[in-house]
Amino acid sequence: MAVLDEVLSANGQYAASFGAKSELSLPPARRFAILTCMDARLDPAKYAGLSEGDAHVIRNAGGRASDDAIRSLVISYKLLGTQEWFVVHHTNCGMEFFDDERMGELLAQSLETAELGPDGFRDIGSGPGSTEGKQIDWLTIADAEQSVVDDVSRIRSHPLVPPRIPIYGYIYDVKTGRLVEISDATEAGRPS
Ligand SMILES: [Zn+2]
Repeated sequence: MAVLDEVLSANGQYAASFGAKSELSLPPARRFAILTCMDARLDPAKYAGLSEGDAHVIRNAGGRASDDAIRSLVISYKLLGTQEWFVVHHTNCGMEFFDDERMGELLAQSLETAELGPDGFRDIGSGPGSTEGKQIDWLTIADAEQSVVDDVSRIRSHPLVPPRIPIYGYIYDVKTGRLVEISDATEAGRPS
């Protein structure tokens, strides 16, 4: 079955037993938000025990504190009342396997999907590509723990983020499913 059919079929089953979820309110009931990676192995609803209506989950490549992630976090507290935030990166993140220069090169070569080998990503497609990729900050990760500290610190020091909100820093281990605290990040995100 094609992906589109699979998704619509699954949705039909989900909606058929939607029940009391139709009564959920807009603000997240448990008043917290998670910023995490889009990696397909991570399911924040499962690793953090979320049900519909519980929390905000903001996802992007790497779970990075990009301008757009911060935009969502500001809306999350200012309009929808979240009071605690988590930044959750993870082991074996794809954002560790390239840097801005490499991504620019890959896109300049072709717009096909690259291949991940032991020496990183390499382009196997045919061109043309585009040099537009060289203008973008891809927010890649050189050091997994440091990236959590950096992102918590960036959120903490943002002028639109109130000092009262604690920001916790964690790395999810894709081999065990466990959240491992990065104490330097949580320290950087301590409320005041
Ligand atoms: Zn990732």
